[in-house]
Amino acid sequence: MNLSDPLSEIFRILPAQERALKKLGIKNVKDLLYHLPVRYSSTADATTIANLKKGDSVVVFGKISGLKTKKAFRKRIPMAEGTVEDETGKMKIVWFHQPYLAKILAEDSAVRVEGKVAERQGKLYFSNPKIESAPTLFSQSSEHNLYPIYPESRGITSNWFYHKIQAVFHSGILEKFEDPIPEHILRSYRLPNLATSLIWIHTPKKEEHALVARKRFAFEEIFLIQLERQKTRQEFKNQEAFVIEKNFDDVEKFVKRFPFKITESQKKSIEHVLNDLKKSYPMSRLLEGDVGSGKTAVAATATYAVVTSRPKGQDFGTLQAAYMAPTEILAQQHFESFIQYFGGRSASSHPTPSVQVGLITGTGCRKFPSKVNPEGWTDISRTQLLKWVANGEISVLIGTHALIQKSVKFKHLAFVIIDEQHRFGTAQRQKLVSKENCVPHLLSMTATPIPRTLALTLYGDLDLSLLEEMPAGRKVIITEIVSPEKRQSAYEKIREELKEGRQLYVICPRIEEPDPEKELAVQAKSVKAEAKRLKAEVFPEYEIGVLHSKMRPAEKEKIMLEFKAGKSQVLVSTSVVEVGVNVENASLIIIEGAERFGLAQLHQLRGRVLRGTHQPYCFVFADTKTSKTADRLKALFEAKNGFELAEFDLAQRGAGFLSGSKQWGISDIGMEAIKNIKMVEAARFEAIKIVENDPELSRYPELKERLESIGAKKIHFE
Ligand code: ADP
Ligand code: MG
Repeated sequence: MNLSDPLSEIFRILPAQERALKKLGIKNVKDLLYHLPVRYSSTADATTIANLKKGDSVVVFGKISGLKTKKAFRKRIPMAEGTVEDETGKMKIVWFHQPYLAKILAEDSAVRVEGKVAERQGKLYFSNPKIESAPTLFSQSSEHNLYPIYPESRGITSNWFYHKIQAVFHSGILEKFEDPIPEHILRSYRLPNLATSLIWIHTPKKEEHALVARKRFAFEEIFLIQLERQKTRQEFKNQEAFVIEKNFDDVEKFVKRFPFKITESQKKSIEHVLNDLKKSYPMSRLLEGDVGSGKTAVAATATYAVVTSRPKGQDFGTLQAAYMAPTEILAQQHFESFIQYFGGRSASSHPTPSVQVGLITGTGCRKFPSKVNPEGWTDISRTQLLKWVANGEISVLIGTHALIQKSVKFKHLAFVIIDEQHRFGTAQRQKLVSKENCVPHLLSMTATPIPRTLALTLYGDLDLSLLEEMPAGRKVIITEIVSPEKRQSAYEKIREELKEGRQLYVICPRIEEPDPEKELAVQAKSVKAEAKRLKAEVFPEYEIGVLHSKMRPAEKEKIMLEFKAGKSQVLVSTSVVEVGVNVENASLIIIEGAERFGLAQLHQLRGRVLRGTHQPYCFVFADTKTSKTADRLKALFEAKNGFELAEFDLAQRGAGFLSGSKQWGISDIGMEAIKNIKMVEAARFEAIKIVENDPELSRYPELKERLESIGAKKIHFE
């Protein structure tokens, strides 16, 4: 057996299992071994069926059989039933409202049942217990009492993984498995080697073993990401860029043209950028700041520094900048801001007439200034725009993805700004590399609040600047955490605002599937049900729109436009629906089931009402039975920005609560490391050291191979 052997050559695999494995991304033996348990279950606290009494809360292991579905009582409640059996006896199980259980469990398979023993007509039974599959081995007593629960997929069970991994272990393959982490690093951080870690994580004899092994794999994942990012960083350091020698004094007159005074953070960030631009290798910087913190002004100032510089050793032309926005609307907005900043209008004493700004989107092209009107723009043809970009006449080009098409050629592209597209930053910069082989400086910008450890990992190839504070004089959203008994009075307050003509968003938690851990009564509010309830009981006098992620785009847009036009006054929606249209009149937001959201996410949600001219309010409805939830939500008043709230989320609730965690390409186990700043720093430190001394990783063939396989995946992804 070899690590690269396809599983299908070693085991007999049913078609359903094959599909499941494919979905989980498991192809060969190595993938199987790296399919790590999500948690462990224990047999230590298990009882035998013969010993059960009514009212006991117990765990039993046994074989499940007689699975079927039916409708119970006169109410025709859908239900499933079955029988669990161990060496000592048999017991019936019923599940009301969960008929699907009969379909997902396999007849005669080994299970773990956890629940309360009930009695009816003298017979004991389980009612709605928790049930999961368990390795056959564990239905009897065994030398160790922890068994792993694996991420499952339809068609394949945790149990299957357990037994197949055991078979692989017994083949002796672990001895052939080289550890990608260099030994000196394992020693410094007291981490077990790969073979030991695999045994400990898949079949721990003690809980500590499992924990130490998890730590090792968490470290491994972060370390590999860091290595990959540090390699990229190093590669850029070896490249050439246009050197731009500008100090803050040189750009101050430009900054003075803004119709506001810049914040301390903006000034600091501008200085970071100017320092980077002086280097002979390209800048790689990420600017983080909440929505509205003023990232555009930083980008514009940097652009000014670049486009008022001339390429060294050349006697013609100025340097160019490209600014890529995620949507057409945003690209247009930036274009208009740039006209304001670069045009002569705002401070005629310091116009910068030589700076021509172009706009390219899917729908058309524009140029500023227009020949007839030096203060405005004109529509121009794409061909014309491309010509002026190629000959350097247009020095700033703003646009959407249209900007990176092959046909767009720059003369001296020195600087690239990428808004809210950080994941693609590096690859897209490559596409923009100009003819002279000078790599453009990169400023990536984001408002997505993530904690520092995650930023250090995901953007390990970038330097970070943070806009910590909002510009002075901003409206502050009056946020209120409303306990259940205050709900009515909150509605009264909202009604008064609605009477004044304001509008209201109501956000309900999205429910992907019924939560079997929760009783039906405490399921989170759903958009549709809540809209009905509000109409019937709370705001019958208003029109209520409904918006959720399963609607068709055209439908969504219609609802959104109706809300914007004031045809509806209340909009009930899920949190995932991007509200792309700004509704200035919507100054009120209710967030239901707030305990289900991360703080950073709540902060982003409430940001929706910040755009208008009226005093904004946010009402956070939470089932704050526990003081812990209330305490947690208090951070919403105290934190300076979304990034700080993301830190709170991480510290208090763990990585799972960081919104959008699925899109980062870090596994659950890797996310465990994100909670541990020491581990992230150690991984980063070691990765930097290795890349500095041996950028080609020639002394670390295992690492090199692993990175190449990550790299292959990444290209696929992009
Ligand atoms: P971001 O891109 O970070 O979300 P923007 O750059 O779009 O934010 O800025 C939001 C608004 O704040 C713009 O109207 C901008 O003119 C204004 N603004 C930026 N910086 C300041 C400042 N220091 N003081 C006052 N207003 C500012
Ligand atoms: Mg912006």
